[in-house]
Amino acid sequence: MAFKLFWFLIVFVSSQGNCEKIIQDLTWSFGNDTIYWPGQRPFNFTKQQTVAESKYMYSVNEFCAAEHGGTHFDAPYHFYQNGLKVSEIDGFRLFGKGALVNLTDESEKLGRNVRLTVAHLQDWESKNGPFENGTILLVAFGRSKLWTNRSQYLDLEGESLNFPGISNEAAQWIVDKGTFYGVGLDTPSIDPGNTTDYFVHTLFAKNSLYNLENVKLLDYLPDKGFEIIAAPMKIEDGTGAPTRIFAILNN
Ligand SMILES: [Zn+2]
Repeated sequence: MAFKLFWFLIVFVSSQGNCEKIIQDLTWSFGNDTIYWPGQRPFNFTKQQTVAESKYMYSVNEFCAAEHGGTHFDAPYHFYQNGLKVSEIDGFRLFGKGALVNLTDESEKLGRNVRLTVAHLQDWESKNGPFENGTILLVAFGRSKLWTNRSQYLDLEGESLNFPGISNEAAQWIVDKGTFYGVGLDTPSIDPGNTTDYFVHTLFAKNSLYNLENVKLLDYLPDKGFEIIAAPMKIEDGTGAPTRIFAILNN
């Protein structure tokens, strides 16, 4: 497995001393190199200012960015006009039980053609028991290691995108299961890059599931037994938003 660089673990020891937690930050930072969907405005500072007064100084920046880039949240409204906008998502749905389907090894062999299938989900359940109510499902395709190369990460071939994603059947299985708050993956989109109908986006949106895209999945995570916090910027009419995502593991 290629989880080797960029370890970013903060060990948090609670004041009780008997409850050690490991916090993994699953968020890419926003800067000039952050990957955005083609045609969307990338993050940039529109103003960077430092002011020195006689008794103090301060620095302030202004930035501009599309909603859908970097590690971000897709609200149901993004693909369904009656769906909730970012600011309307109930807070409790942003705190979930983590579950990981790890397709990294499969992606090493099959690359862009890997899809999350119903068999993968059923295999996960046969090993770990049923997905619990309030699960935020993560799917690792091993793509985070490509993040520093935009063309490889988007799997560009001319204008076309080719990265892996969720199959239509698996998406329907996830919806029918009824235990998920949202689904996150380490690619730019919940649908495979070469989709022509955005089936998964549309199905999830119509069933009040949110998506987490460009999740940073470089470090080891177990199949289950951790919590996820996914906190999007509360943009009032947002179809999506930059999102800070943490996995919280008991040590
Ligand atoms: Zn998006």
